[in-house]
Amino acid sequence: MTRKEYSEILVPNVEHDYKYYEEKYPSRNLSNGEMVTRFAPSPTGFVHMGSLYASFIDLVMAKQSNGIAYLRIEDTDQKREVENGIEGIVKDFKNLNINFDEGPSFGGNYGPYIQSERGDIYRAYVRKLIEEDKAYPCFCSAEELDEQRNIQELEKERIGYYGVWAKCRTLTMDEALEKVKNGEKYVIRLKSPGNFNNKVILHDLIKGNIEMPENDMDIVILKSDNLPTYHFAHAVDDHLMHTTHVIRGDEWVSSWNVHEQLFKVLGFDLPNYAHISPLTVKEGNTIRKISKRKDPWAAVSYYHQKGIPTEVIRLYLATINNSTFEAWYLQNPGKGIDDFKFEFDKCPIGGSLFDIQKLISISKVYFSSLKATEVYDGVLNYTKEYDQEFNELLVKYKDYAINILNIEREIPRPRRDISAYEDVRTYTWYMFDELYYKEAKFNLEKEYNIELLKDYVNNYFDQNDSKEDWFNKIKELAPKYGYASETKAYKAEPEKYKGSIGDVCEAIRVAVTSLTMTPDLYEILKNLGKERVIKRIEFFEENQK
Ligand code: GLU
Repeated sequence: MTRKEYSEILVPNVEHDYKYYEEKYPSRNLSNGEMVTRFAPSPTGFVHMGSLYASFIDLVMAKQSNGIAYLRIEDTDQKREVENGIEGIVKDFKNLNINFDEGPSFGGNYGPYIQSERGDIYRAYVRKLIEEDKAYPCFCSAEELDEQRNIQELEKERIGYYGVWAKCRTLTMDEALEKVKNGEKYVIRLKSPGNFNNKVILHDLIKGNIEMPENDMDIVILKSDNLPTYHFAHAVDDHLMHTTHVIRGDEWVSSWNVHEQLFKVLGFDLPNYAHISPLTVKEGNTIRKISKRKDPWAAVSYYHQKGIPTEVIRLYLATINNSTFEAWYLQNPGKGIDDFKFEFDKCPIGGSLFDIQKLISISKVYFSSLKATEVYDGVLNYTKEYDQEFNELLVKYKDYAINILNIEREIPRPRRDISAYEDVRTYTWYMFDELYYKEAKFNLEKEYNIELLKDYVNNYFDQNDSKEDWFNKIKELAPKYGYASETKAYKAEPEKYKGSIGDVCEAIRVAVTSLTMTPDLYEILKNLGKERVIKRIEFFEENQK
């Protein structure tokens, strides 16, 4: 029997041989420097901050090099899979408006992009290795392997299936076929050509050079369920999909020697590797990996519910990813992620602490850079799902709402109060009569002069005044009621006055908004208009009693 026939018995029902796939997925014709990256989650749960971080780097590196970032679902470990895991991941990315160039439901010529649909492809390459005597069937049961491990522990030997411990490695074809005929279960293992005493060096783009022993383990490449292991699928997929840069979690560093060997044995070019450190949090004195269970902000839904846009998450991930990004972003208003040059060697080598407060402050900067119409569109969309009452007001008073949102916005130093769409109501509710007369509460510590307020609105206030005229009129009004029209004069001789011009403004502010702190009072009054200011002062009078 030829080795080819032998491989066909061990790995049956494979439609095409590997050469077919080599032709089917030709090289991508990349120009110099164009990167092909991939995000390769296992469908073991929904998208969370950790996966967003990894995919952020994939996407940003591919985009800035004019290359391709694709999504590949790694579902060969079907025991760990959750129900609707694949649909969940794709949906989460689509909801976040994060788009890959290729992937399940994104399209592309190098698919299928779901590993469980690629069984035939892997098996074709397993056959190739068996045929070349670089892989063999292993019939050892789980119990036998456990027993061997115990002996290795006892004898203080390295644990694993290698060298003299690799029992099935020496089976002849006839011996193996006999076992197959008897219905014994088997997996296919790599016949490792490595020597543990040799060294291999991973030139990691983030972590630098890492030396490790050559792999000599006869690792499993095809499991008894006919699906490949992660290691084997990684080599075959990243070869056929022409990945140039494998960006993945640093938990894979220690098995890189296996991957390097697999690429060599299969005759594939080795891609570049960049291993990213995990997102961490500080808990007391310890630092741990972020946890979907313990950290509410690790879930994507947290941001959706608050109305924190994906762009803010991306900006925050950019600051984690590159220590110079934040300063650059603050110094370059109007610029965004696409204008910044990211580099692997600027990525953190150890864990990156996730700081939700920092994310919120970045969000404030982001919101302050938006136009009023952009905030309006965003909050309209958000309230549709989360605040029906406010949504109706935004629809009914569209132009007015945009004017309100424009207070202290679209100016050189815009206001930085909103950090999420849920905040918009908190900062603007009092400008809507429907909410104001229902929700305004006056916790008055001092009494304000109603006469002054009425005099002001009836005799001084004109909606069309410039800001300068408006302020001059308040200055004119102040001394009539015993207030200093200049803060300086008041400070010099406080006993001479009831208060200063600031107190007059405070009285007007409280009377028309119920709040002591608001954005620009001139703008508020102008937007409310005379009639509504009169009504609000009357309402205030009632409530002050
Ligand atoms: N499926 C692997 C995981 O979820 C991905 C590792 C990789 O990107 O190669 O950890």
